[in-house]
Amino acid sequence: MREHTADRAADRPGAELRGDCGSCFGLCCVALPFARSADFAVDKDAGTPCANLRTDHRCGIHARLRERGFTGCTVYDCFGAGQRVSQVTFGGRDWRTGPPERARRMFDVFPVVRQLHELLRYLTEALALPAARPVHADLRGALADTERLAAGTPEELSALDVAAHRQRVNVLLLRTSELVRAGTRGRRKNRRNADLMGARLKGADLAGADLRGALLIAADLTGADLRGADLIGADLRDAELTDADLTGAFFLTQPQVNAARGGPGTRLPDSVTRPVHWTAGR
Ligand code: SF4
Repeated sequence: MREHTADRAADRPGAELRGDCGSCFGLCCVALPFARSADFAVDKDAGTPCANLRTDHRCGIHARLRERGFTGCTVYDCFGAGQRVSQVTFGGRDWRTGPPERARRMFDVFPVVRQLHELLRYLTEALALPAARPVHADLRGALADTERLAAGTPEELSALDVAAHRQRVNVLLLRTSELVRAGTRGRRKNRRNADLMGARLKGADLAGADLRGALLIAADLTGADLRGADLIGADLRDAELTDADLTGAFFLTQPQVNAARGGPGTRLPDSVTRPVHWTAGR
């Protein structure tokens, strides 16, 4: 959450689809609920500001998040929803200074826009994949629709059936995945939604695999070949990616990578950056 990224998000390509905490009113630290767990040291209701959030919308324990039990905050990314809701949807009006109803609406809208921005992130990536050319026209249409929805008023966003829109986009992302993975040599394993928690996959050949929604929590993927794999929605929390090769893996997001374990030998696709904590100690 607040300021966890390796470098200034605004300085990178595609910055509008990555969190820019400096342009946000700390929405993720207020709008989202926490359940006390290995990721969060405390319980917190949606709409309640985290006790560590300062009045300038910065995190009071930013440099010590992991040691204080807030690993989940170092993993999270809003895909740029925070700055859009703060600066565009609500025109730069801070939830702290307005009426409570406006603040509540802001907190309701934030998770909706986050889902739309996540879709924009996937659609933008899909359009950059040459193998997906047969569906590029459809992808462009879905991108325009999603952008139009994300630019809605607070009232429109509150009323939006975002799950239905996700389903429509997902059909296209599935087709994209088939087209991209068809170009992978060898067997393309189907591990969609597979329960691989703690699985021993050291050195496994998962090139071109369908790992959509796979549970890979704490799986040992040391040295695994994940080139060209579809990792959309795969749960990589504490998965060991040391020396794994994810070159060309697609629909892999920064929060997924942030939640995994890796090192200097992990090869990542260009769409994500190497988490700071991979080199600064775990
Ligand atoms: S601990 Fe810091 S980053 Fe995490 S929710 Fe609280 S204020 Fe935000």
